[in-house]
Amino acid sequence: MSSLLSESDLNDFISPGLACIKPTETTKEEPKAGNELEVGKESNDLEKVSISLQDCLACSGCITSSEEILLSRQSHTVFMEAWKNLPEDTLLAVSIPPQCRLSLAQYYGMTLGAFDNSFVSLMRNHFGARYVVGTQVGRNITIRQTNSELVERKQSQKTNSPALCAVCPGFVLYAEKTKPELVPYLLDVKSPQQITGSLLKEAAPHIYHLTVMPCFDKKLEASRKDGEGEVDCVITPRELVSMLQELQLDLRSFVSDVEDNSLIETCSPPGWDYRVHWASNEGSSSGGFAYQYILHQSKLYPDAEILTIEGKNSDIREYRLVDGTKTVASSSQLYGFRNIQNMVRKLTSSGASARNVKVLRKRASGGAQRTGTASLVADPTKTDFIEVMACPGGCINGGGLLNGEQNSTKRRALAKSLEAEYERSIPPVPLEESTGHDPRVYKYTFTAVEKSSDVVTVGNTW
Ligand code: SF4
Ligand code: SF4
Repeated sequence: MSSLLSESDLNDFISPGLACIKPTETTKEEPKAGNELEVGKESNDLEKVSISLQDCLACSGCITSSEEILLSRQSHTVFMEAWKNLPEDTLLAVSIPPQCRLSLAQYYGMTLGAFDNSFVSLMRNHFGARYVVGTQVGRNITIRQTNSELVERKQSQKTNSPALCAVCPGFVLYAEKTKPELVPYLLDVKSPQQITGSLLKEAAPHIYHLTVMPCFDKKLEASRKDGEGEVDCVITPRELVSMLQELQLDLRSFVSDVEDNSLIETCSPPGWDYRVHWASNEGSSSGGFAYQYILHQSKLYPDAEILTIEGKNSDIREYRLVDGTKTVASSSQLYGFRNIQNMVRKLTSSGASARNVKVLRKRASGGAQRTGTASLVADPTKTDFIEVMACPGGCINGGGLLNGEQNSTKRRALAKSLEAEYERSIPPVPLEESTGHDPRVYKYTFTAVEKSSDVVTVGNTW
């Protein structure tokens, strides 16, 4: 069990975490006139706080008992145990996405290049890893399959409702467990974590796959029945730091010549170009799935223009592809639980579809203006596809990153600086340049679980 989650956090009784936004209230009875005050006696006890998902915005550790079992299989102590007992014929493979690399680099006061260099060296030279990879190859497959499913959906004209991205397990678990009516909206394409796992498992007959991920929810994703065997253990950057401290290892001491990529190349599986799997793509730092869909559609409409429309807060953004006066495709980013709640309300309220059709018609007949976007209002529920992320700010603000015990304002400022670093230091690679074309499809099977009021996410920053 991770030292970051204590056993006492893990039971079916939902109690507020340290960062819980639900205030602990006491009810104070007004003393009745004429009543004498009894000295030395507290007149009111604290009332038990009851918290529902509607109240919940900033999770810091609630979990249900079934997830407790899953988490006990996914921690750095579990990894250490497995690593010590790894059979001789089993190779260790490690993957890490850009958000975690940036967070760790910032924590250790290193450039991203120096961090990558020392991380690969640590995994190779201390842990004996055979492969150490970035997640861009997996992400490229997620993007390609998302694009082709969305295009197919649009051409079939079966629905006006948006498809919802399912790469954030915080949101997927929320939908499956508490909003079953959302499940039909979920796009079933697997996340980069799971696809990277599938690909790594093909690199040798016996692979143990460790991945470093920005939130605790990714542990639950790795434990899904429809992803069994793809990832053996998920740890967060916070756990990685704890693990290195316990082992008295200094990551910085593993750095060598930053310009020399030979070790990074050696640790790439056959056929994987390190300039691709350590790279990124255009779009948001949570994967850029919304923007990539619009880029894909823009190839079909070479004369069309991409409009970027900001939403009512910084966690909402719409991309609209406008050909003449017609909106030919649209997508959006929508992050944070507050925005998710509004989205759910709009998508599931009765009459929403009738309204959608009306507004869609209006938009199609000239809603988008080509001269500036200031007068346009982003409305994700009316786009073809929504990149939904549970954390405010997206994965760059994940609960497993090294953002300390800071308040939400400081965390957001830190996330903004990591976001800027993401754009500055990780080169975007066009989809065409990525390795080969994988004909397989990587799909989830979603299950709407019976309705529950349990809080289902752990350690993220909703
Ligand atoms: S999950 Fe929600 S209710 Fe639980 S501690 Fe976090 S904010 Fe509070
Ligand atoms: S948005 Fe947050 S909860 Fe969702 S995958 Fe990213 S880090 Fe995890």
